[in-house]
Amino acid sequence: MGSKPGDVLVCSECGLEVVVAKACGCGDDCVIMCCEKPMKKKSGDKPRGSCCCG
Ligand SMILES: [Zn+2]
Repeated sequence: MGSKPGDVLVCSECGLEVVVAKACGCGDDCVIMCCEKPMKKKSGDKPRGSCCCG
């Protein structure tokens, strides 16, 4: 599904993270590429209260 505002996409190659500020209006999946690879959506769920050290 498409990205929604607030979604965080992360590049598995370089670690770049982008936050979607505005939803795509094309109705299809829009794949954002980084490092020539599709960025994937970071887990929408918040971390389970774990500290920064994991
Ligand atoms: Zn990248």
